[in-house]
Amino acid sequence: MISREKRHNEVWFTEESTKHLRLSLRVTGELVRKETPYQSLLALETAEYGRMLVLDGAIQVTEKDEFCYHEMMAHVPLCSHPNPKKVLIVGGGDGGSLREAVKHESVEKAVLVDIDEEVIKTSREFFPTLSCAMDDPKAEIRPMDAMVYMKDHRGEFDVIIVDATDPVDMAAGLFQSPFYRDVWDALSDDGFMVTHIESPFTDAAIMVPAYRAMKEVFPSVHPYLGFMPTYPSGMWVYAIGSKRHDPSKPLREAPKGLKYYTSDVHRASFALPPFLVDMLENG
Ligand code: SAM
Repeated sequence: MISREKRHNEVWFTEESTKHLRLSLRVTGELVRKETPYQSLLALETAEYGRMLVLDGAIQVTEKDEFCYHEMMAHVPLCSHPNPKKVLIVGGGDGGSLREAVKHESVEKAVLVDIDEEVIKTSREFFPTLSCAMDDPKAEIRPMDAMVYMKDHRGEFDVIIVDATDPVDMAAGLFQSPFYRDVWDALSDDGFMVTHIESPFTDAAIMVPAYRAMKEVFPSVHPYLGFMPTYPSGMWVYAIGSKRHDPSKPLREAPKGLKYYTSDVHRASFALPPFLVDMLENG
């Protein structure tokens, strides 16, 4: 929602995190506003957080804090894998997870499958710091439904990163066990799948069923934590499903020049506060 505050004549974007909690950012310009075949897309210039991409009213990325999320999505599984060569990104049409994946020397191919080509185009045009790896020789961009793509690619990927919108409409199935079974089939024997499962303060109703659905399929599922200022509550939970290896201990050095991820942050992110463990196991 965009509103004009009369007192200072300022324009604000407000995301409704829950019915009773909102996050507002001051807007200094509008870059794109369109209805795509899948969602309403808004790209704004903000006063504090740089450019921001919003889909169906939900903040997807801001230039200022996206590294917190993308580094934790990509480097936790990639640094825990002994030799990741092929990576699949489900969603992630802004390109942030792709940018991080191709930084790994061992990675030979990274496929980005986003259902909405308009997101990819918008990122290419207005978010160059996110979309910068889309033309990398290792990158392949496939605008299509990842649920369909997954069924035709068995045993192919070492790491699958599910970087999707909230579980409604075309993304609903990406948080359910039939999709996780297809992910399992698409992974190699050493494979990892990672997804974000939202915030314990605002989205327990999404987080707990998604975690349980992963546990129906993967023999071990490890939740981990990160800070993400512009996502609801700022406390963000990820979950990694493993076929064989322990993802809580990095096996390899991270690429140089990262801003959030280190091996120590990796290990620490698997230490969970008791309220969250209780919510995940008994909620
Ligand atoms: N990090 C972000 C967040 O949690 O807010 C997600 C960013 S990324 C822009 C999400 C992408 O998932 C969108 O571009 C959307 O088009 C894509 N998506 C949703 N459902 C999909 C599906 N079934 N197959 C492929 N991509 C999908």
